[in-house]
Amino acid sequence: MTQQLTLALSKGRIFEETLPLLKAAGIEVTEDPERSRKLILPTNDPAVRVVIVRASDVPTYVQYGAADFGVAGKDVLLEHGGEGLYQPIDLNIAKCRLSVAVPAGFDYASAVRQGARLRVVTKYVNCARNHFAAKGVHVDLIKLYGSMELGPLVGLSDAIVDLVSTGSTLRANNLVEVEHIMDISSRLVVNQAALKLKRERLQPILAAIEAASQAKETTAQPS
Ligand code: ATP
Ligand code: MG
Repeated sequence: MTQQLTLALSKGRIFEETLPLLKAAGIEVTEDPERSRKLILPTNDPAVRVVIVRASDVPTYVQYGAADFGVAGKDVLLEHGGEGLYQPIDLNIAKCRLSVAVPAGFDYASAVRQGARLRVVTKYVNCARNHFAAKGVHVDLIKLYGSMELGPLVGLSDAIVDLVSTGSTLRANNLVEVEHIMDISSRLVVNQAALKLKRERLQPILAAIEAASQAKETTAQPS
């Protein structure tokens, strides 16, 4: 009997950027999650289905084996902790960076030098806590679920820790990037039990996805 495989993806950039890699593995998703209300999408392979979940829920589905594998940002994986997940491949997609930003005119360097206690809003509480602890900067972290840029504008915080790609959202809100915490890209994650029990079925797919992501990386234009 063919082993059934379930892949967890989030809508939007991760879905869009994973499609070509899946195609290289012979898997084509036959419905568009932006048009369909279905949460389980079929593929051209009757033994492979895709579940559409929130980006931050991907590691949870894979950890508990509700999905055999999935694609999640390094940011999401660090916040989740990566328990029960095997992370074999950096797909080099959905690239951005995690940064500290402050309102233009705020003297971040001297605030840090003087040992001030900074108020920081972020969705990435674990990453932010580790970053400031390593620097010995005292912070009060306030968790938000979106629109971090608003925090300093309305007096909720001095700074934000958020994902940045082009920087246009920061600029539009008169914020400047003052520290680059880490580069972010999306990773393939695999349920550890599935990796053993469904190895025969999974291994060729993982290999094809890895080859396609490396080929894409070497032909990519420098940005
Ligand atoms: P939700 O919309 O459900 O709250 P989300 O905002 O995390 O979740 P996406 O915007 O699809 O969902 O982001 C998915 C992943 O893509 C993030 O976890 C991150 O790794 C990466 N990412 C986020 N913003 C950008 C960006 N501007 N450019 C490139 N990659 C990004
Ligand atoms: Mg988003």
